This record gives sequence, structure tokens and C-alpha cells, in this order.
Amino acid sequence: MKKPILLLSLVLVLCFGIFALSGCGGKDAVEPEPTTEEPAEAPLAPDVQKIKDAGVLRVGVKADVPNFGLQDAATGEFEGFEIDLSRELAKRIGLAEGDVTFEAVTAKTRGPLLDNGQLDVVIATFTIKPERLEQWNFSEPYYQDEVGLLVKKDANIAGLAGLDKKTIGVAQGATSRDAVQAEADKAGIKVSFLEFATYPEINTALESGRVDAFSVDKSILTGYVTDKTVILPDGFSPQDYGVASKKGTDGLTEFINGMLNDMRASGEMDTLLAKWNLAD
Ligand code: GLU
Repeated sequence: MKKPILLLSLVLVLCFGIFALSGCGGKDAVEPEPTTEEPAEAPLAPDVQKIKDAGVLRVGVKADVPNFGLQDAATGEFEGFEIDLSRELAKRIGLAEGDVTFEAVTAKTRGPLLDNGQLDVVIATFTIKPERLEQWNFSEPYYQDEVGLLVKKDANIAGLAGLDKKTIGVAQGATSRDAVQAEADKAGIKVSFLEFATYPEINTALESGRVDAFSVDKSILTGYVTDKTVILPDGFSPQDYGVASKKGTDGLTEFINGMLNDMRASGEMDTLLAKWNLAD
């Protein structure tokens, strides 16, 4: 009597297995119709949505830094690596490429323009520094430069050591003064400084002999070299450039970091750097 019961149980188990594998059969097992709808996009962070709703991204950029942010005097158009980064950001926010307004900023004006809400972001050779992180949000670095010195060729200055007891022109609000001072201390030389609001003013001071050297990041100095001046080989105090926004706009900063990481991973960043002669 035991065998038929065992056989029956075996048949039952087998039937159940087939039933389960076939997706339990019946109406409920009908495969869902493939849907044509796109998966829902993740909602934008409020800081980013605000820019999208405004229909425009307002960016502070440099107007006098070749390959980074340069304004054509005749057309008023801006071009450079940081201009392209701004357009990419607008695109990723969901704006059209043309929905970006560029405002020329200096080392002195860019922070206050973020604080008073006139700009959404600053992408303008803005070095990330611990004291600046207390005032503004910064993305991760997108470029690294170093501080340099521009001097007159006929001054016969070969390097920083040749600037002992000389005067250096620097921009207000820039990192240059502290960087040169630290380097001069290391070299055991004495230098003094004159501060100016803009780079063209420092350049004029160099030409007229009011200062013996013009110091700022090398990328910025390249815009001012003439046949009468030369950038010294010395380079010091690495400068990491980040995209700045108003303090507390963490959703926007995270969005920008996402963009930068994507661009690095896809190779777009390298392509863009090469486009502007900034690749190593
Ligand atoms: N990058 C340096 C700074 O942020 C130089 C100044 C400038 O960007 O104009 O202070």
C-alpha cells in the first residue's frame, strides 16, 4: 500500500513544479505589455530646478583669459574652455544652449556677484581655497594651474631670485600675493606688492615700470605676453579651479560634480581640454 501513495506524491510534486515553472498559468501569468513610456527622470534638486524654471543660467566668466574665458571685443561673444563647460551645464539642466548669459567678472567681483544673487555660478579660474569654501560652494576641481611671473625682457630677470627688493603687481582678491610672498620667504628674498583691480591695469603698470613683475596664474598671464615681456620658468602654488555657487546650494554643487564626473568618464573632458590646448 505504501508504494502507490509514494508514487502519487511524486506525481503531485512534479505537477506542482511544472505549474510553478510555467508561471502558475491562468490569466494572471500574461506577460505585461511592453510600455513605450520612458522611465521617470529623477527630479532635479530645488537649486537646479530654480534655474530651469527661470529659463536661463547666469554664469560669471573671465573675459581676458585666452582658452578659458575670452570676450571678442568686436562681437562681444565669449569663448573658451569655461564657456563650453557653462553651455554643457545649461544643457544638462534642460536648457537650450543659448539660454546662458555670460557676465565678465574679475577676481574682486565674482564672489559678491554670487552673494547678491546676480549670478547662479562662477566658472572663472576660481581657485578652491579653504577660506573660500567657508564663503561659497565649490565643485570638485576641473583644472589645475600654477602661479607665475611676467617680467620685461630687457629687465634681465631670469627667475624669482632676481626679484629681490622689487615690486610685484597683483590683483585684489586673488591668491597671487600670498603665493608669491610664501615663495619669496622660501627663497630668502624681500618683495613688495602693489594691488590693482584688474589685470590690464597691472599690465600697464609693468609696461610703465611702476611694478617689476606681474604675478597671477600662468593661464591668465598668457593673455598678456607681448614681444617685450616673458613668463619666467618658475611656477609655484598649484591652483585648483572649481565651479563656485552661493553658499548652501548643495544640490547644484552635487549636480555639477555629477556632470564633471560624467565628462571625465566619457572622455568628453579630455576632448574639451584638447580643443582649448589645455591637455597635458
Ligand atoms: N585663480 C586665482 C584666484 O582664484 C587667480 C585670480 C583669478 O582667478 O583671477 O585667486
